[in-house]
Formats: sequence, C-alpha cells, structure tokens
Amino acid sequence: MGVTKGLMALPEVALAMLQGGAKGLADSRLENLRRLKEGGLRTTRLLLRVPRLSRVTEVVELADLSLNSEVAVIKALDQVSQSRKRKHGVILMVDLGDLREGVWPDDLGSVLKEIKQLRWAQVVGLGANFACYGGVLPTPDKMERLLSLKKEAEKILDRPIPILSAGNSSSLSFLLRRQIPFGLTQLRVGEGILLGRESTRREPIPSTFQDAFVVVAEVIELKRKPSIPVGEIGLDAFGRTPQFEDRGLRKRAILAIGRQDVVPEGLLPLDRGVRILGASSDHMVIDVTDLNRSLAVGDELSFLPNYAALLAAVTSPYVSEVIVGEKEEGRRNQKVAASFTM
Ligand SMILES: *Cc1c(COP(=O)(O)O)cnc(C)c1O
Repeated sequence: MGVTKGLMALPEVALAMLQGGAKGLADSRLENLRRLKEGGLRTTRLLLRVPRLSRVTEVVELADLSLNSEVAVIKALDQVSQSRKRKHGVILMVDLGDLREGVWPDDLGSVLKEIKQLRWAQVVGLGANFACYGGVLPTPDKMERLLSLKKEAEKILDRPIPILSAGNSSSLSFLLRRQIPFGLTQLRVGEGILLGRESTRREPIPSTFQDAFVVVAEVIELKRKPSIPVGEIGLDAFGRTPQFEDRGLRKRAILAIGRQDVVPEGLLPLDRGVRILGASSDHMVIDVTDLNRSLAVGDELSFLPNYAALLAAVTSPYVSEVIVGEKEEGRRNQKVAASFTM
C-alpha cells in the first residue's frame, strides 16, 4: 500500500504510487482519504489511524479497509456498514512491542471471539506496526510471531485471513534482503517511496531517488555578523537556552522560512558551504561564509527535507507546492517529482 499522508494525498503523487505498482493507497486522515476518493483514483483505500468512534460513518464511506484495535469501534463499523450495505474490511492490529496501537497478543483470542460473528465489518487481516513509538525493529522473530498469531486467529475465526500487514518502511530492509517470511502479504510504505530511504537506518534504497522533494526558501537578509550573540543570554523564542560556537565574523543569511513551515532540523542544504544555525517561527538563520558562489537578497536556497520536514511543509498553509516535470528541472539534471517553495 502506498502511504500518501506525507503529501496530504496529493493526487499526482497518489497516482504515481499506483503507476509504480502499489496495490492500494493508505492514509491516516479521513480528509486525505476523501481527497483520494474525490480525485477519482479507483483503488482500495485503507485508513491507517485506528478510527474514532465518533467518525465511523465517514470511515465506512471513505475507506474499504481500516486498521483497528478496539472492539467497540469495530462493532460500530459493523452497524454502519450494515445500514449502508457496504462491507468494510477490518485489519486487527496486534502490538508486538512498539507500544503504539494494537491488541496485546495475550488478548487476541478474546477480542476475536467478540467480533467473530460480525458480518459487515469482518476481520480480513492482522497487522503490526514497528519503529513508530517505541522504535521497536521488525526483526525476523517478530515476523514469525505475526505469522503464528495469524494461524491462531484463523483457528478461532474458522476461516482464512487473507491479509497480513507487516509494517511500514522500516520493514522494507527485509524485503530488500529477501528475508521477509512467506505469508506476509502487505507493507504500508510512505517514506520509502517518497524519500527513497528505508526508515530504520535512513539508508538509500537502491534504484530510488533521494531528492524527489526540495524545499526552496528566499533570502531576505544577508549580512556579516559575529557568531556569538551580544548581551546577556536568556531563553530563545521557543524556551530553549541557545548554544553558540565562536567562529568570528561570519556571513549570514536569513531565509523566509521557519518553524511554521518546516522542521528546520530536518533540512539538508543542497549547496555545500551552507550551515543551518537555527530558526524561529518565520526566520531561518544560516551561515553562508563558505558558500562558493555569489548570493544576493532575493535569491533562493534549496534543501532536501527528511520525512518530518516534508510532512510539516506539506501541511503548512504557508507553503505552496509546485510540481516540476523531469524535463524542466535541468539545473540539477536529476529527476524531481515535486518541490515546495515558500
Ligand atoms: C504512517 C504509517 C505508515 C507508513 O509509515 P512509513 O514509515 O512512512 O512507511 C504505516 N503504517 C501506519 C499505521 C502509519 O501510521
């Protein structure tokens, strides 16, 4: 499943995921699933965040499948499904130690018995999540555990469970090393597709691009200033005590981008000789002393975002998205699917 939440389900990117071979699209937000539905992409839609009891009607309307962990919610989904005459597939999450969503394995049997009789919101899969809250890695023994829980669940339900949803981009390294055990049928991949990195060690995935998204910001001030603030030091705009290194007089630029637009710590300058010094809500201060090209007020600088920075940029109302075709992007002579400009 191609996970579209990193781009608020931007239709062009969702379509590219399907063209690239994803069997369906998944998102954590109902708003994004609606965007996919109204965009006319005909494919299976999966809701990633366990549904709110207060929103089950929309879940049935917008998603074919959802990840679940609460009996009350699954029963409510079943009622709505029945009244709408629209079946809904439940992927029951088991918590294999990451301590985010999921039924604890000891409780799987009793949960299944409670929902076994439901006809409209039926359990069609078992799933697990890794490396999200607890940073727990999807190791081979966790995968085997998932497989054995599936067998146990099939016995209790007395029917086969077609989907075994084995995690997110952090499980990709298994797939690439061909260590994924037979029987796991689904991965839910966002970062791996969008940024070309498996997410546990952030290593590039062979044959993918790491620069499909570029954050572009404009220089609004360019001056030589000392590298240490002058005066008594208190807390910065975000309540932290800032640290400084004395590097003498430096050429500094301010960019029109800040914490309302991105996660500054998640940006990697595309130019050598650019160092990010810090950022407040609307300003990012960078050191450009070592940049070996001329820079003027009004020029733009580009950065590669990590997943957190991409997510922040896409969801910020202050950032506009520009999709750049392969041909137009001659500058770096690399494939650029989309970029974000301030
Ligand atoms: C976001 C999310 C994913 C995708 O994670 P990536 O690391 O981007 O691949 C998968 N599963 C769930 C439940 C998610 O919330």
